[in-house]
Amino acid sequence: MNKFLVFLEQREGVVKKNSISTWNRVQELAALRGNSVVSGILVGPAEIRQLDGAMAGNGMIYHAKEERLRLYSQEYYAGVVADTFKREDCTDLFFADTVMSRDLAPRLSVRLQASLLNGCITSDAEVDGVSRPVYSGSFLASFIPKRYQRIFILSSDAQLSSCSAGGNIDFIDVEPRSFSIKDIVPVVRQIVMREGMPDVSEARIIVAGGRGMGGAEGFTLLEQLALLLGGAVGASRTAVDEGWRPHAEQIGQTGKTVAPALYFACGISGAVQHLAGIGSAGIVVAINCDRHAPIFDVADYGLTGDVHIVLPKLLDSLKEFLKTQ
Ligand SMILES: Cc1cc2nc3c(=O)[nH]c(=O)nc-3n(C[C@H](O)[C@H](O)[C@H](O)COP(=O)(O)OP(=O)(O)OC[C@H]3O[C@@H](n4cnc5c(N)ncnc54)[C@H](O)[C@@H]3O)c2cc1C
Repeated sequence: MNKFLVFLEQREGVVKKNSISTWNRVQELAALRGNSVVSGILVGPAEIRQLDGAMAGNGMIYHAKEERLRLYSQEYYAGVVADTFKREDCTDLFFADTVMSRDLAPRLSVRLQASLLNGCITSDAEVDGVSRPVYSGSFLASFIPKRYQRIFILSSDAQLSSCSAGGNIDFIDVEPRSFSIKDIVPVVRQIVMREGMPDVSEARIIVAGGRGMGGAEGFTLLEQLALLLGGAVGASRTAVDEGWRPHAEQIGQTGKTVAPALYFACGISGAVQHLAGIGSAGIVVAINCDRHAPIFDVADYGLTGDVHIVLPKLLDSLKEFLKTQ
């Protein structure tokens, strides 16, 4: 029997959307495989939001309640997840692809002596393996982990679950034992980069810019558009390397893999390394002054023009439109 454990990441008491999608995806996998159970592990404050009705299937969530763990602490989180994994005799541990999971999963792989595979897009119900895009998404490679216990970080591509939400979930309090609270590395300060904007890895709408934005100030237009649409600002590596945007916003092979419903690529050429991060985007809108730019090959809608002329017009039209709604 497969016993799947899903790490449910919370920030400030709110469970991340991509953790919920991972849970739903794992429920789907359990249904495909049969003879499998799904449970979740949640570390953080007693008050947790964004779970009601969002999660599919049946299962249990082990909740290690600790007010001081509202913020991430590597050692403590790893201890709690490892304890739960061992106590419940789990076979597989799943993470959404987030900054926290990229830090936590390797620690757990060592602690649990488990195989670790990141960037997975699917688990094959027949052969017990996973697929992962390689060479900037040009090929899909299949991997079969050697060890009995396995850890998977599912990329955003795998987050699209067809499971319907509204499952029967039970919560069980767990008493973390492995570490005392004095072992926690204290978080001195948390900096919120952009208030009111979702993270690119979770956003349904992303307004991304590249070198064509001309500088950090060019991104003001993209911020305005993102705020109007309730989306996030993303960036190409060039924009990040130039210091115009933080690395947290970089999309692509060495940045984040995203799966928004709507993706704006403004002044982005569409290099293969950038496209590797947007393979699961829904509708792609490209604005570029070079009509031969490769981004137009993958765009659903393309606009040939200067971003500094097109974007202000788009913003004005959108504001007018929103007034009528
Ligand atoms: C190992 C490796 C990993 C990499 N990882 C990543 C990654 O994760 N993410 C990533 O993005 N890149 C990555 N890259 C870099 C990638 O190859 C490209 O260099 C980068 O994506 C180009 O960024 P860009 O599209 O912003 O810039 P450019 O390629 O310079 O394109 C700028 C575009 O803007 C257009 N433009 C210029 N002015 C205007 C204007 N006024 N109005 C409208 N359009 C305009 C131009 O026509 C052009 O198409 C990686 C490269 C390597 C080798």
